[in-house]
Amino acid sequence: MAGTSRIEINQSALIHNLTFLQNYLGQDVKISSVVKANAYGHGIEQFVPIAESAGIDHFSVFSGDEAHRVFAIKKPQTGLMVMGWMNDEDLEWAVQEGVEFFVFEMEKLEAALSYAKKYDTRAVIHLEVETGMNRTGFSQQTLHKVVKIIRANESYFRVRGLCTHYAGAESIANHVRVQKQIKKYNRIYKWITNRGIHPELRHTACSAAAITYPRTRMDMVRIGILQYGFWPSPETFIHFVHKRMEKSEVLKRVLSWKSQVMSIKKVKPGEFVSYGTYYMAQEDKTIAIVPVGYSHGYSRSLSNQGRVLIDGHRVPVIGIVNMNMLIADVTQVPDVKKGDEVVLIGDQDGVTITLASFADFNNQLNYELLARLPLDIPRQIINQ
Ligand SMILES: *Cc1c(COP(=O)(O)O)cnc(C)c1O
Repeated sequence: MAGTSRIEINQSALIHNLTFLQNYLGQDVKISSVVKANAYGHGIEQFVPIAESAGIDHFSVFSGDEAHRVFAIKKPQTGLMVMGWMNDEDLEWAVQEGVEFFVFEMEKLEAALSYAKKYDTRAVIHLEVETGMNRTGFSQQTLHKVVKIIRANESYFRVRGLCTHYAGAESIANHVRVQKQIKKYNRIYKWITNRGIHPELRHTACSAAAITYPRTRMDMVRIGILQYGFWPSPETFIHFVHKRMEKSEVLKRVLSWKSQVMSIKKVKPGEFVSYGTYYMAQEDKTIAIVPVGYSHGYSRSLSNQGRVLIDGHRVPVIGIVNMNMLIADVTQVPDVKKGDEVVLIGDQDGVTITLASFADFNNQLNYELLARLPLDIPRQIINQ
């Protein structure tokens, strides 16, 4: 391997997940496949063509740079939506190319209008409304002005959607807040249609909302984490299996992350391993050094917590995770050798390391660990 590790993308697992989601949500709900953060670390260039082959015809990204990457490889008829940041240049490009985007500020609406006039086209916009998350989205007062501008320039806008985002649908603690958001969204939808604006798609749900609150599905859902084979939180999974006869996992993990043993060493009882005093050997230990650290996306919070697979054994990560290396306790692994495969995420000889096995101490770690997998780790598509 050229780099210190590689990522494998399991094509059939991905197609399985997308097919499951399409069947589960039904034909009336369009899926926008969320591929921000380099397709949650899976690789936009690897992910998008496979998703299209499974019937996905709409993608969502956060920013202009991600949009350019999807645009370069997607089929011409596939929809593309930018949910967050674009500079003026990106916005001009989006208007010109018919790329869809969230509008949540007057400045952006006005800029979109001027580009639409410049190219004598329609800006394809999704109006994002504030319902209680207090992040982005038009407030009800500002919407009055928005409606006026759109009504006065109807040949320059296509109002593709009316959208909002929930403030934590993956946790029951936010139940009341989410319910309020749903109500508020529905009120705004009615209000805006009464004023002559008819958004083509109502969309509010991320993965957690789509599972836990079916009425948030509306016309389209923006599904990220589920496609990759992860649940937004244990609660979401529990909610999902609660009403099913079949209690087992329905999703398959798509990504594996592999490295190899770089060096092996013996440690005597009483010795500390890695920086500081976080780990002391209680007995004779054999340790394996793996050339993956937090600069490669292996979170420092997995110090003394993570597990990796070596020669079919699940072994603990001991001591502090370094910038470029981690250390595994391989005392129980017979005949471990330099160059042996190390699985950081994925399967080896029937044993599995899932990101979710860390989720017990941090729900958000799945998202964070995936999203932080560096762009320069090579991605390879496999079929299993
Ligand atoms: C990231 C994101 C999603 C997808 O979230 P998941 O929990 O991964 O399904 C949906 N909508 C918006 C606005 C997002 O930023």
